[in-house]
Order: sequence, then structure tokens, then C-alpha cells
Amino acid sequence: MKPIAVALLLSATLTPLPLGGQSLSEVERRITSEVDASAAEAIDLLERAVNINSGSMNFDGVREVGVLFRQEFDALGFETQWIDGTSWDRAGHLIARRDGSGPRLLLIGHLDTVFEPSSPFQSFDREGDRAQGPGVVDMKGGDVVIVHALKALAASGELDDISITIVMTGDEERSGRPLDLARAALIEAAEEADIVLAFENGDSNPMTAVVARRGSSGWRLDVTGAPAHSSQLFQEEVGAGAAYEASRILSEFYDRLAGEPLLTFNPGVMLAGTDVDYDPSAAGGSAFGKSNVVAQTAVVTGDLRTITLEQLERARATMRFVVLESLPRTSATITFDDGYPPLAPSDGNLRLLAMFSQVSEDLGYGEVTAVDPRNAGAADVSFTAGFVEIAIDGLGPGGGNDHTVDEWIDLPTLAMQSKRAAVLMHRLARRPGVE
Ligand SMILES: [Zn+2]
Repeated sequence: MKPIAVALLLSATLTPLPLGGQSLSEVERRITSEVDASAAEAIDLLERAVNINSGSMNFDGVREVGVLFRQEFDALGFETQWIDGTSWDRAGHLIARRDGSGPRLLLIGHLDTVFEPSSPFQSFDREGDRAQGPGVVDMKGGDVVIVHALKALAASGELDDISITIVMTGDEERSGRPLDLARAALIEAAEEADIVLAFENGDSNPMTAVVARRGSSGWRLDVTGAPAHSSQLFQEEVGAGAAYEASRILSEFYDRLAGEPLLTFNPGVMLAGTDVDYDPSAAGGSAFGKSNVVAQTAVVTGDLRTITLEQLERARATMRFVVLESLPRTSATITFDDGYPPLAPSDGNLRLLAMFSQVSEDLGYGEVTAVDPRNAGAADVSFTAGFVEIAIDGLGPGGGNDHTVDEWIDLPTLAMQSKRAAVLMHRLARRPGVE
């Protein structure tokens, strides 16, 4: 029922738009001038957030960044809550909630970065319109966009009309396990949400947004063969050995599946020999074998990226089928783990992008187009895919070099993205026919 209602709402909001765009309403103009009025404050908040180390494994730091943003949401009248992450071995998540009318919006951010306290990259460094710092675009900048869009809505008296849930996870860069516990709060928020707006920096270009992300999960192949002297290889009682069977399986994966659009499956490590010792936590291991002994064991681990759950299931079925057949005197098993699900490019997501693009044009920033899903890695928004039919990501600021010590932000894009987000939220909250 909820997706249908929202689909109607979206189509009703979209259809009457005149070609060439509408201009901003009086209220929308007020909202954007409030964003401008607090532009310096936004940069200050970003500086404070970036100067707190919050590498995913620095639990105290992640919690401290959580407190910083929690204070902002408290001040805006949100009900806030810290969800402790002990049971998935991470810091936890910040949740904020405010009830209003209209569809419920779920805004997604994350508090952690890839830079642990051991990294040389620790502080916010500004030069004119550009600043460098750990997490400055991925994604403390996006978190600040959320805060400043909401502040502008509040200052112009428009926040009360919107139903909002905010989830800022503490372990996006290195998610805790088990994953179902680590993402339970996000999924619970998605279950009651109608529309998802996520503020990752996408491909770091504010003229694009993300309507589809590939999912990413893992697989492991275990192969056994009959040990024997190499001179007896291919004899009936010895067969082909584990090394040949592993290579047959990989070749058949390649023959059957390679080239399918947006599907990739990469064997990352392969070990074969008489004795194989694979350590998953080290993502590696050792193999021992003599050239005159038929390999008894092989292990291969890899990832699997797909654009839809259906494609994931189909690829897994093909892989299982290939593994079932065996070369003489060998056997193999394949196991799959649950990783990040895909965000499929749904109709609702494309409609939301069209609406966001219209907002951008009305603000004078021009058209926004979709990021190629091949260039959009897995992210938290994907966990909402089964529950919400209207989602968009990449609403964070511009900049680049994420995950490197050269990470930077184009500071004026903070205000730009806050304006776009605030106006979009305001339009989404309007019921058709009300304004
Ligand atoms: Zn991120």
C-alpha cells in the first residue's frame, strides 16, 4: 500500500510541471536564502566533525561524531537515539526521528571513515573554497548537507510539515558482523519509510546522482581430489586432481557468465596443492605441493557483483550448477555469503531523480543525470531496496580522492546540495493538490 500511495504522489507532483521547468515558489526562495545565511556555520560544523577521528574501528571517535550530530538534531526537535553496536562489534548508529505530514523520508548518512587513528591524515585543512580532510566528502560533508537542509527548512517554518527519519551508521566503511544485526536499525527505518534520500558523495560530481548500485557479496570454492603420484594422473583411480577441477570450474564460470551486463565475479585468491591453509581474516594463506604429487586440495575465494537480486540468484544458480559436475575423482562445494544487496534502478528511483533534477534546474544549477552503476560501489542505501521503491543516493557534496590522504571537498557545493535537498524535501512533503 505505501509504495503505491507514494508512486501516485510522485506522479501527481511530476505531471503538471511545465516544459522548461517551474521557478521557485516564495517559500522555496525563503528556504534557499536560509541555506545561504548559514553557509559559514555549515563549514564550521564540517571542520569540527572532520577533526574528530572516526575510523570505523575507533569506537570512541565514532560515538563522539555521533554526539556532535545528535546535538544538531536535538536542537531541531528530533527524537534522537544512539543504538549501541556491541553485538556487531562496532560503535553503533545514530537515529533521529521527527513526525509530520506527507510521506516519511529516510535520510542516510554515516559517521565513520576509512582513516583510523594510525593514519597520517587527521585534520581539516582549508584553502579558499577547497578543504582537505579525512571523511571530508565521504561522508561528513553529506552529513552536514543533511543538517543544513533541515536547519533551513526549520528556519523558514517548513520542517513541521515533513516526516523524517535519519539513520547515520557507524560502520559503513567497515561494516560489523553479523550483517543482519549491523543493519537491523537501518532496515527497520526503511520498513516504515516511503522515500530514501542518501547523502554519500556518489561519484563526487554534484551534477550526477545514484539511482542504482551494484550489490557485492562473496563466495568460496573448496575442491578435493585424490592424492597420488603424478605419473598416475588421469588414470581411472586417480582422476584429474583438485587443481584441474578448480581451473575447470573457473573457466566454466567465465564461459557461461562473463560479459553479462553489470555482472562481475572475481576470483581474488586461489590456492592449490597437497596442503592448503587459507585464513579468511588475512585474505590469504599458503599452499604446499610437489610437482610430482597430484593436488589434493584447492580453495578459491572471490566476490560477486550484480545489479539486481534476480541477477544475483541466477548467477549463483549457474555457479552451483557448474560446481555440481566434476572431473574424474574430484568433488567441489561452493558457499556464498550475504554481502551488500544491490539497489536496482527502479521506476521510482528514476522518477525521484527527475524530480531532483527539476529542483536543480529551478535553482539554476542545471540538469542532474544518473551515475553509471558500474562506478557506484555498494553502500548503505542498498539495504533499503527491498522495502522502499523510491530512493536516490549521491546527494552529498562535490570533491574527490575518497579513501586517500588527498580527499578533498569543493566547499561551495555544501550550500548547493543543502538547497537542492531542502527544496526536494519540501516538494516531496506537499500532498498533491494542497499547494
Ligand atoms: Zn561513504
